[in-house]
Amino acid sequence: VLGTLIRGGPVSRVDLARSTGLTPGGVTRAVQPLVRSGLVAETAARGRGGVGRPAASLDLRAGSELQVGVKVTATELVSVVCDLRCEVLGVVTEPLAGTGPEAVVDQLVQRVRAWQAVHPRVRRVGVAVSGDVDVATGHVGYSPFLGWRQVPLGPLLAGRLALPVVVENDVRALLTGEHVVGEHAGTPSLALVTIGAGVGCALLLEGRVVHGIHGVTGEIGHVLADSAGPVCHCGNVGCVEAIAGEDAILRRMDALGHPGLAVADVVAMARAGDPEAHEVLAAAGRAVGVGLATLANLFGPAVIVLTGEAVAGPDEDFDVMEPSVREAFAARAFGSAADCEVVLRPLTFVDWARGAAACAVADLVAGGTRAAVV
Ligand SMILES: [Zn+2]
Repeated sequence: VLGTLIRGGPVSRVDLARSTGLTPGGVTRAVQPLVRSGLVAETAARGRGGVGRPAASLDLRAGSELQVGVKVTATELVSVVCDLRCEVLGVVTEPLAGTGPEAVVDQLVQRVRAWQAVHPRVRRVGVAVSGDVDVATGHVGYSPFLGWRQVPLGPLLAGRLALPVVVENDVRALLTGEHVVGEHAGTPSLALVTIGAGVGCALLLEGRVVHGIHGVTGEIGHVLADSAGPVCHCGNVGCVEAIAGEDAILRRMDALGHPGLAVADVVAMARAGDPEAHEVLAAAGRAVGVGLATLANLFGPAVIVLTGEAVAGPDEDFDVMEPSVREAFAARAFGSAADCEVVLRPLTFVDWARGAAACAVADLVAGGTRAAVV
């Protein structure tokens, strides 16, 4: 019920029963504690004619509780404070004072306290970190960017802040944001792929973010895209990441006699008509298309969202890579798996931080079980 009200409202009890599959009595039982806690309010009827009692509707009090969401990168903390619909009320980006766990925990505690001073209704915290994260325990198993192994980030923060803290892998957090409040809110099967230094992927199937028993799922970065391709850092040959990752693109340009570039330079060169830059990005796009088709063939999501700084900056479009991504996807997707909609979209670090806040909201909806169901 809370998830439905977060995605849209106001909603009548009848419509709520219909969309949740609950009986009218079930809706009443679900709504009572939400009204009591102030998360949901009963609003006056809005011009519904007819006889008898006007049909009052229920609506989320989106500002009744706030959450802080933080994306931890190798160099920065990007933090937002959001309401329950993940509307961003404020953003602070600050350099990371140090990458050791103690330094990061200290800085996160200070940041959340600073937000609480401005917004006393902050009730929970979501933190997104790249790497292998166990959302159930809040432990970061391995984060290569930060050089962390087995850091109990969630318990450390929750202990200092006395607030519920959800720690999630950053790509899964971004996907949760898309599912809870993004353009694809409520889509039951959704995948998100990020192309950057590495290739990240998160999956949501039938309303649940897939975590994998061993903390690994959707590793399309290490799907074979070209058996004659370059060696990957994982030791295999021709992985998607070995062709489409940022390092791979720059290494290829270096080998072609263009050292010291950034991905944005390669994109600019391709746009200006440089055939080598164009071919390097097209090859990256083809590898990504193979990866996306593999995802669609295996899981059949309704939508795959593709994003990442190697594909486009926040204000750029995907003109260079997009045709080869779509071509390879169409060639490899099997049967109606090709009906999966591939959406290329720039997302900023603020969107990632908002995804972390969405994880905290999803945890509230799941009753604090970290099941992330909305
Ligand atoms: Zn690999």
